[in-house]
Amino acid sequence: MKKKCLYLAALLLLWVVQPVFSTAEKSLPDLKKEVIRVIEQESKLLIETSDAIWEFAETALLEFKSSKLLADILEKKGFSVKREVADLPTAFVASYGSGKPVIGILAEYDALPGLSQDNTAFRKALVEGGSGHGCGHNLFGAGSLGAALAIKEVMESHKIKGTIRLYGCPAEEDVGGKLFMAREGLFDDLDACIAWHPDYTTKVDVKGSQAIDDIEIEFFGKAAHAAFDPWKGHSALDAVEMTTFGINLLREHVKPSVRIHYVITKGGDIPNVVPEYAKLWVWVRDSTRKGVKDVTLRVEEIAKGAGLATRTTPKINLMGSLHELLVNRTGAEAMQKNLKKIGPITYTEEELAFAREIQKNTEVEEKGMVSEIKDLEKPAKEPEGGSTDVAEVSWITPTVQILTTCTPFGVPWHSWAVVTSSKHPIGHRGMLLATKVMAATALDFLLEKEILQKMQKEFKEKLGDYTYKSGLQPGQKPPVRK
Ligand SMILES: [Zn+2]
Repeated sequence: MKKKCLYLAALLLLWVVQPVFSTAEKSLPDLKKEVIRVIEQESKLLIETSDAIWEFAETALLEFKSSKLLADILEKKGFSVKREVADLPTAFVASYGSGKPVIGILAEYDALPGLSQDNTAFRKALVEGGSGHGCGHNLFGAGSLGAALAIKEVMESHKIKGTIRLYGCPAEEDVGGKLFMAREGLFDDLDACIAWHPDYTTKVDVKGSQAIDDIEIEFFGKAAHAAFDPWKGHSALDAVEMTTFGINLLREHVKPSVRIHYVITKGGDIPNVVPEYAKLWVWVRDSTRKGVKDVTLRVEEIAKGAGLATRTTPKINLMGSLHELLVNRTGAEAMQKNLKKIGPITYTEEELAFAREIQKNTEVEEKGMVSEIKDLEKPAKEPEGGSTDVAEVSWITPTVQILTTCTPFGVPWHSWAVVTSSKHPIGHRGMLLATKVMAATALDFLLEKEILQKMQKEFKEKLGDYTYKSGLQPGQKPPVRK
């Protein structure tokens, strides 16, 4: 009898100390059907929200209306919302539920300067010189909102335990809001994180992204009359030119995976004054953070040498530094299964004609929309060109992301063609697919303990003895924009 009691007590203890993962009364496939149904019911709200953010077209750190719109909807729908997190006036974190597991979803909403575009299949600015959603982040923001709302609804009606959290992440195109949010520890208690991005193909992203250093180099010289007494001047512009010349010579001696690009943001004011101040903005990218650091060191040496040669003083500011994206294969496989069940997108003849017209006007092959679901790619040696601050989160918690077709195939990215697609049914359809796949995958993570454990195991193995270290300088604040 005593033995039996002990046995029962042990069983009870086991049950109590087990991590509490929900056992919903409905099967997981049924819950997924339900979450998709909720997204379909909410599709009008999601499209309206996406179009409103498209019209606001707010650039990095100025996304006041866009972030407020998203945060207000979340609050109204029962999320608790913390605004202005991590010293970023346009960042927020919205949470619903309690306890483990904690699943994050990332949302972005910043536009790009100079890309204002009307809803036409040819280049036509809506506001001359204005900004536009050339990366489709209006869709990104509203799509992620939709996933969070739908999961919340299903969690609530089936009493699913755990926490769902939507992160409003500003300034992806610029300083990288997630860099500041990561330093603040906002992602630290996540068990997994989910993101997506508009694209012209549909696939779960296992290629990753490049690491990057964002460097600003200022030179301080001495002004003089450029004709009367130029020998008294020390040209800061000369120093900038020597630096860019040095960088261009350096290209021969870096690995093929390295990308270096720059703009001269200040080069003097008028030709008859020897410029006493000049500024260069450089981005160094490579497949790994280590590769980037090696090249950054060379760039810094070149700038110091240019300062010496021109008798100017260089000031090198490391503005930010992003990791390469750490791919989580286990999470990606779970997401791929959902994508295969839910996708692909179908279009009307009218939509396909619109797509082909855009392709004609951007001089790419008139293939229309390519929406077939790609198989999960083999682990890649090198990531594709480009960086994202989603990578920061991927070194803190297992992170998965999906790309969905939102623009005609092959159009130049960060261009008017993406802007016009992002407020059109071709963009909306891609957004809704991503929303459904993210929501279904979040349900997997909330309810399938084994998937999460396997993801965590892979994450820890890939991390080795590395713990996340922010690429920001100690005490570095985000810039204030007006
Ligand atoms: Zn983007």
